[in-house]
Amino acid sequence: MLDKNTLKELKERLLEEKTKLDSNLNKIAIKTDEGYKARIEDLGREEDDNAEEMEEKEANQGLIKVLSKNLDDVLKALEKMEDGTYGHCENCDEEIPIERLQAYPAATSCVKCSK
Ligand SMILES: [Zn+2]
Repeated sequence: MLDKNTLKELKERLLEEKTKLDSNLNKIAIKTDEGYKARIEDLGREEDDNAEEMEEKEANQGLIKVLSKNLDDVLKALEKMEDGTYGHCENCDEEIPIERLQAYPAATSCVKCSK
């Protein structure tokens, strides 16, 4: 069972992570109703630069996907803390070992189920 102090510590780490992910996402993406979209930088570049720009945009899109997935996990974990289900595996409802939560506070499933 998670004690209050551990829970508090994990919550602080999740909030830190949320702030970090938010600012990283906002640098490369704009939040829309359908999720995060890559910013299209219009810096008045020459047309020759378009291919490069497209490549950069594609790379960002991949990064945005990873970051917003991580952000989702963090938000979900924070929600679970609120309703008291944090630390239980979403799949089998077993308690997630504290070591796993400390390594990855946003974990929503036990090691067995995440494989
Ligand atoms: Zn499980």
